[in-house]
Amino acid sequence: MENILCLKCLICGKQYRHDEVDYICPQHGDEGILDVQYDYDFIDRQISKDALLNSSDLSIWRYKPLLPVYPEAAVPPLAVGWTPLYHTPRLAKDLGLNALWIKDDGRQPTASFKDRASAIAVVKAREKGAKIITTASTGNAAAALSGLCASMQQANVIFVPETAPQAKIAQLLVFGSRVFLVKGTYDDAFELCLKATRTYGWYNRNSGFNPYMTEGKKTAAYEICEQMDWQAPDCIFVSVGDGCIIGGLHKGLKDLQALGWIDKMPKLMGVQAAGSNYLYAAWKNKEDILTKTPINAQTVADSISAGLPRDRIKALAAVNESGGAFISVEDKDILRAIPELARSTGVFAEPAGAAAYAGLVKAVDQQLVSGDETIVILNTGNGLKDIAGAMKAVEQVGTKPFRVAPDIKVLQQVVDGWSAT
Ligand SMILES: *Cc1c(COP(=O)(O)O)cnc(C)c1O
Ligand SMILES: [Zn+2]
Repeated sequence: MENILCLKCLICGKQYRHDEVDYICPQHGDEGILDVQYDYDFIDRQISKDALLNSSDLSIWRYKPLLPVYPEAAVPPLAVGWTPLYHTPRLAKDLGLNALWIKDDGRQPTASFKDRASAIAVVKAREKGAKIITTASTGNAAAALSGLCASMQQANVIFVPETAPQAKIAQLLVFGSRVFLVKGTYDDAFELCLKATRTYGWYNRNSGFNPYMTEGKKTAAYEICEQMDWQAPDCIFVSVGDGCIIGGLHKGLKDLQALGWIDKMPKLMGVQAAGSNYLYAAWKNKEDILTKTPINAQTVADSISAGLPRDRIKALAAVNESGGAFISVEDKDILRAIPELARSTGVFAEPAGAAAYAGLVKAVDQQLVSGDETIVILNTGNGLKDIAGAMKAVEQVGTKPFRVAPDIKVLQQVVDGWSAT
């Protein structure tokens, strides 16, 4: 692959050819996450801002020369990426901000950000001639893999915690995956999936293990910058579970800097749920993330529930190297964020998506951002993914439907009540 120089271990720095290792640095076990290193001089000859201006490909594949796939590789037919970036002046005003944008990855084919990574996974699996792809997931990565595999006629095996939201499990079954509902946490599902990978030789898509998932997720950073006419924002807020998304954003921004397409690195703000804030705690207390033990994760935002964030090396580097911060938000603030965001923007997020907005509210409160900064929040998942969470959220803010007999007189009593208040 001419655009790739090597895969580099983020612990020891050892470099491997891309066809020499599949996932991790053999000397560092599952912790030895690899980073794909590119030849930017070569890439610079394959792609330019001007060429993108004329590109009719409105998907992540418009950036193919920057992705870890062969130029001639067949890509899935589903339209992954190029999600809308909405200007949200009303919400900005409420928060005392000048310029606020929301990128809605709830609009992906399987309704979460994870499609960006799973799209790369199915291409890599085909490249390796894999008969079966597998993943462990809190739900969205699995749904994404499941849908993309369906589009490519690719067999796959899924491991999710049995507590995953029903809508996500429904997606897996509808797309025809073989589904294991693991009696345990996401972390348990992850370990079981790794064992199955080693036992059966399946191709593994796990975040924070398969180095190419970062490379799919980085496309959101490209899109944000291109949609803002290559004026990078000052700050990007995103929720963090394993840390693969925030690491991916960082990677994408570093790519754009290396190409000279943007001239500053936005601060990356990683938002964690208070009940699953391993990285927030490690960052705040300067703990060693290679020795820090897993926590017992519990949060209403299932997509960011991770006792041991698998991509913690890249996530911590993203925040530290960009001058950003980790922010920890309570479940009740995550739930409140769902209707607040929906009512002021029209974007309906699942709890983990709304968490990014909850983090922004807290950051404004704590003066971590200033009013004149240009800020982007990333909605990572569609609200329809977790109806139980959404119903809890509206109950918390006291929004109820009216149950009425089909009778205009009964209706009249309710409507009269409105004008009285
Ligand atoms: C996976 C996911 C996240 C977190 O991504 P990580 O890479 O695990 O940090 C956030 N929101 C949603 C909706 C997700 O599915
Ligand atoms: Zn190593």
